[in-house]
Parts: sequence; structure tokens; C-alpha cells
Amino acid sequence: MDFFLSKKIVEYACLCGVLSPLTKLYFCRHCLNLRCAFCCHHEVDSHFCSNCLENIPSSEAKLRKNKCNTCFDCPSCQATLSARATSIQVPMSTKGEGGDETDEGSASNKMVTKKMYYLACLACRWTSRDVGISDQTSQTCSWPEQEYFHSTRFQLLSEHFQAVVLCDKEEKQDYLRRKTVKTSKFPSMTDRTGLTVASIRRQIGFDKSAPKAKPKPTNITPSIATSEVEDLPDEIFTKPVNLKNITTIKQRLAQPANQPETVKHLYPQHKNLSIKRSLRCRHCEHNVIKPEYNPSSIKYRIQLFASNHVPEVRFVKADPFKIGESASIILKIINPTINDMTITIMDLPTEDEEKMAIEEMRKTFDKSVSIATKSSLTPSIMRPSLIEDPRMVDCKITGKIELPDSSFVVNQRDDSAEFDDDIQGDRQDPRFIIWRKANKVEIKLNVIPCDGLKKDDDIITGFTMQFTYSNVHTSTPEKESQGLRHALNVRVYINPGKISE
Ligand SMILES: [Zn+2]
Ligand SMILES: [Zn+2]
Ligand SMILES: [Zn+2]
Ligand SMILES: [Zn+2]
Repeated sequence: MDFFLSKKIVEYACLCGVLSPLTKLYFCRHCLNLRCAFCCHHEVDSHFCSNCLENIPSSEAKLRKNKCNTCFDCPSCQATLSARATSIQVPMSTKGEGGDETDEGSASNKMVTKKMYYLACLACRWTSRDVGISDQTSQTCSWPEQEYFHSTRFQLLSEHFQAVVLCDKEEKQDYLRRKTVKTSKFPSMTDRTGLTVASIRRQIGFDKSAPKAKPKPTNITPSIATSEVEDLPDEIFTKPVNLKNITTIKQRLAQPANQPETVKHLYPQHKNLSIKRSLRCRHCEHNVIKPEYNPSSIKYRIQLFASNHVPEVRFVKADPFKIGESASIILKIINPTINDMTITIMDLPTEDEEKMAIEEMRKTFDKSVSIATKSSLTPSIMRPSLIEDPRMVDCKITGKIELPDSSFVVNQRDDSAEFDDDIQGDRQDPRFIIWRKANKVEIKLNVIPCDGLKKDDDIITGFTMQFTYSNVHTSTPEKESQGLRHALNVRVYINPGKISE
């Protein structure tokens, strides 16, 4: 299965010209087109911890620096650490302290067993005791945070730049307020003179308060570059290095604040939060992927994966390719929808046709953007301004397919039919269909390698597949009853093998 889906043998062209396997594409049912990841807005829906499944609001996630408070990653192998319990004997100080204590019953010196916790990695056996973190009395209590040498400096820098951004934003808003044309219908004296009501009030002495001082970012002592650095220790070139004590690059980068050089300084790291992501079509701004909010749910509220809507083409086998001779390839076509599909195999657009289609797409896009900018009062984030620029498909065709002479029907997907006896309908199939079962059809096509190819050159061939698609999810109820049928085109590129001789 992995072979069919992941290896780039059969690829589909998105409207923007990027080739991807069908499993990496989405289908917008409002634009009725394939969408690749570049043609979708990626939005963060929710933050959650993948270990304790706590759902964290995005504002709080920002405050926590996108890390979970209670879960830790192993600093050595980056697996999740688990708290292990151990019991130790301590002399009893006061009676009835703590719930876990039990009497040992010794006569002279009363000892009690106390449960203590430490962090351990089940993958590499690293424990928090290795670096001298003392055991804690509770599993969920806050583990000691590591102190960083530069933490105060970074805190100051971060505050300073936040103030700078705020100042910039206010200045910009102020500028826009002064620039915007007043919407009042009646001419005002102050328009001509450039005086504002506030300044006139101040001049005649109605307003005693001083003009509001703008917030200024706090001053910060700049860093100073110096050419004097500490000398390397004398034994650096003579002392043998014990690689077991030196951290790897991965381990160092997992702790960016202090980047420890020896394993003695590896500390448990708070686990990074995961996100649930939703995707939005850039053309019509409808969602193509929307997960459920609950972090423990793996379901989707909207899932428009292309593999659920567009017929899947799988490469089955090919005869050996020889220069100047046609060879047959066998493709399997699968209908994933619950409606019958009529499929027509056509030629790929020529270079000029492709260029013209791209030009047209750019024109319609420019028009839609200009309408959006004129009509909408909403800020620019709502506009589809970040649309992917369409381009030519970057794939040179080296084998030409002999087109089949007719269309053919692929039956609907019926999950229960898998268990039925194989009943062949009395459908009159054209000659190129060699096998048919349930919603799958195998077709045999001839491929002629182009001139000028050498041995071991890749054969790349392709076709435009037109298929009928019934849009059962239309928003208007009267259309829904009819189940609108569309004829849609997708471009499919196949790499069936190399020239053998
Ligand atoms: Zn795309
Ligand atoms: Zn957690
Ligand atoms: Zn580990
Ligand atoms: Zn769309």
C-alpha cells in the first residue's frame, strides 16, 4: 500500500502547477478543484499537550512559551519522561504527617516509609537522579526549574521589543487617523485650516490637560562587541575526549537557552505543545480540513481529502520500454465516491494552452482581489491576497499515451459489495478495459517513448482525466435534491519506468 501511495509514481497536478501524490492533496467542493498545501491557508485551531491531552487556549499557550507545565521530555533522547515512584525510610518527625506514611513498628527509633518520585526515561534509562535533581514528594509538584545565565537579559530584551512594536503600531494608527477622509457631508471650517477640534479647544483654553505623552520604549543597554575572549584551557588539545560525556548537537539544540556541552548539564525539558490545524481554500475561503476541537478526538468536522473525491489512479505494471516501440501499461482506476463516475482520458494541454490557462487564472484572480479591496471594509487579513501564483507544471513528458477511443464508467463505492459474490453486470466494456470489480477498473494503454531518448532514461507520461462528480453537499436545498453533476478535469502524471534497451 505504501508503494502505491507514497512513492512518486503517479502524481496529480494542482491548479497552481505543483505535482503531488493524491494523498497529499485536498479537494475544495466549492471551487470544485484540487488544492495542494500551498493553495490553502494553514490556521492553528487549538493548542494541546500530546501527552496529558490538556487543551490550552492560545493566549495561555503564548504565556507558557508553547510548553506544557506538567509533562517533560527526556533531554537525552527526546522521548516523554515518566514519573517513577520509590519508597525511602525516613525518621518520623511529627505524627500523622502526609497520607503515604506507614508505621514501621520499630521500638526505639521510629522509621516511616515515604513515597518519593523521580523522572525516568523508559527509552534510554536516563533519570533525573543522573544530574542530581533531588526526588520530589509529589508526582505533579513543580520540578525545580533550571536557571539560565542570560535569562534576565533576554527578559529585558523581550520587554523592550514588545514596547517597540506597540509604539510602532500606535504611530501607524495615528497616521491612518489623520489620513482618512472625513465622511461628513457638510463642509467644516476646520477641514480647510487643518486644525482639529482638540487643538482649537486647547488654544482657546477650554482644555487644560497637556497633550497625552506617547509611550516610549524603555531604554536598554546595548550589547558591546569585544575582541577579547577568554583563552582556551591548556589541556584542550592534550586531554583525551570521552565522547560518552559530550552532548550531541540534537541534545544541545533541545535546550537552546544554555546549550550544554556535557551530559551532566542535561535537564528535563518541558514538553512542546502540539497544535490542531485547519486548512482553508485560498480562493473561496471555505474550510477544506477542520479537526474537532477536543484533543483526544482524531475525527474531523470537515475533511475534504482529494482521495475521497477524485478517482485514484494506480500504476499496476508495464511492459519493458524500448526506443521507438510502443509498450503497454496497466493502470487501475478506483472510484472513491458513492456515485457512478464516467471517466474520459484526454491529452494533456500543450504548452501554449497551459500558458493561456495560467494567464486567464491570473486575470480572474486580479479581478476578484480588486473587488475585494474596493468593497470590503474588513482588514486585509480577510482578503485572499496570499494566493499561490499559478505556474507551468515542471515535468517533461517523454512518453505519449495512445488515447482510448471511448469513455468508460467506474461503479460507485459500496462497502458491503466487498463481501458479495462477484457478480459481473452485462456491461459492454470497451476493449481497453481488462478487468473490473466493484468500484475498480483496470485499463491497458499504449505508451510510445518520444524520440531522442537513451537507455535508462525515465519515461514520464500523463493524461487529463475528465470525471463526472456529483456534488451532494451543495448549500442550497433545491440543488441538493438534484445532486448537481459536474465534469471535472485533473492532470495525472505517471512514471512507469526506465527505457530498458
Ligand atoms: Zn496548489
Ligand atoms: Zn502535558
Ligand atoms: Zn531518553
Ligand atoms: Zn475553494
